[in-house]
Amino acid sequence: MPTLELKYKELESCDVLVAGGGSAGVAAAVSSARSGAKTILIEKATFLGGMATGALVTPMMKNALDAKNILTKGLFLEVCERLIKSGGGATFKDGNPGWFNPEIYKWVLDEMCTEAGVRLMFDCQIVSVLVENKSLKKVFFINKGGCFSVSAKEFIDTTGDGDLISLSGISYESGEKNKRQAMSLRFMMAGVETKILGKWLQENDKNGDSPVYLLDSGDVLLSTAFTYEKDWTLKPFFEKALENNDLKKEDAAYFQIFSVPGSPGLIAFNCPRITPKDKDLDPLNNENTSWLLTEGRQMIKRISNFCKKYLPGFQNSYICQIAPCIGVRESRRLIGQYVLTADDVLSGKKFEDSVASSNWPIDIHPSKLNEKGQLRHPKNGDYYQIPLRSLLPKENEIKNLIVAGRCLSATFEAQGSARIQANCWSMGEAAGLLATKRVKSNLGIC
Ligand SMILES: Cc1cc2nc3c(=O)[nH]c(=O)nc-3n(C[C@H](O)[C@H](O)[C@H](O)COP(=O)(O)OP(=O)(O)OC[C@H]3O[C@@H](n4cnc5c(N)ncnc54)[C@H](O)[C@@H]3O)c2cc1C
Repeated sequence: MPTLELKYKELESCDVLVAGGGSAGVAAAVSSARSGAKTILIEKATFLGGMATGALVTPMMKNALDAKNILTKGLFLEVCERLIKSGGGATFKDGNPGWFNPEIYKWVLDEMCTEAGVRLMFDCQIVSVLVENKSLKKVFFINKGGCFSVSAKEFIDTTGDGDLISLSGISYESGEKNKRQAMSLRFMMAGVETKILGKWLQENDKNGDSPVYLLDSGDVLLSTAFTYEKDWTLKPFFEKALENNDLKKEDAAYFQIFSVPGSPGLIAFNCPRITPKDKDLDPLNNENTSWLLTEGRQMIKRISNFCKKYLPGFQNSYICQIAPCIGVRESRRLIGQYVLTADDVLSGKKFEDSVASSNWPIDIHPSKLNEKGQLRHPKNGDYYQIPLRSLLPKENEIKNLIVAGRCLSATFEAQGSARIQANCWSMGEAAGLLATKRVKSNLGIC
């Protein structure tokens, strides 16, 4: 019997190895490289952005006390400004600068990384690590050229799914008892008459659930939604489509759309949310995710047909993109030096070693069709912080690993708030700075 023997060729070594180039990974790599470390970012996709680009998660949710008091600054604001300058970004009327076009975002992130001197390695999946004396030594990955390794002094896990955490054998959790966050398969439609849709929403919106904002550029920024729990402006269309069997119950359980700046006629869907009646889907289980992809595409077929048949402005629209990646809200979470809790979020807890500030609610999407989600806000006018210790493995575990992004050390519920993109940018930025600081202090440079 032939045996499968993988021979890994050592490619090179660096100071800081960033695993995964989503929001947290790009922030980590840019801050590490800008602060003087030789930085390599390894990414399994063929583009940066992770959920933001690959799962079409646009826009970034608002993280601000009010229009003037934005809680995330630093690299997050820089990338929003770069998006606006590139024609693929905009600030909404509530002051949120995080509206963007996911395709333009890809090259904006490339530019930020290459200008900072980050070496980008796309299309490389990390599959293993070498640990010696409680230190990570190298990561092993595969690409079309074969099997390779890269050594580093410091490692940052920004894989979203905590792949380095798991491969290193350190403590983590995923889900909670029988609870999981639902996954979604997002998509976009082009050819929508957004002016017609915007006008209809403005004329019919009684609850303020469908904001519309006309930019000087002529862009129409708008969003609206439908769920069974609320009296949404779009409700009559959904009632009719359900009555006519044009939609199934699960298709209408969560519907949300946003227009996309600099992209006339383009609408991004934050749905379908794939929620079976009777089972929890695990983002780490390939049988589950494979089923989800085919089911998700069938739901997209029905939802897009519904839009064309019922919604104002959609008559000549068409699907232009289905996300290449599944939208995963939560999978592995580090159990680190501090585990952020729901109580910290809701009580507005502050920390001396804070790396991010946020007032985003605990936002849990139920994984089963008939379950209720959660939307629980921090105290009015207040915000909580994420401590650096929530990015660090326990002291008796790996010494040179930092974790940032949605796989931070938080309970299931607290992660439901901390996971938004703005916070991932802050965590990544802090992780990159700390990694460089450790490299320099080990070399005796201050
Ligand atoms: C459906 C959905 C809706 C959401 N809505 C919003 C919203 O409206 N606003 C908001 O701000 N946030 C929203 N979020 C949350 C937010 O988008 C994510 O939590 C955030 O983008 C995660 O960023 P990250 O950098 O931690 O991880 P990711 O974006 O997941 O990035 C991880 C990266 O690591 C790479 N990777 C993974 N494993 C490996 C490996 N083994 N080797 C190499 N590379 C690897 C991946 O390809 C990816 O590029 C939503 C999320 C989902 C799923």
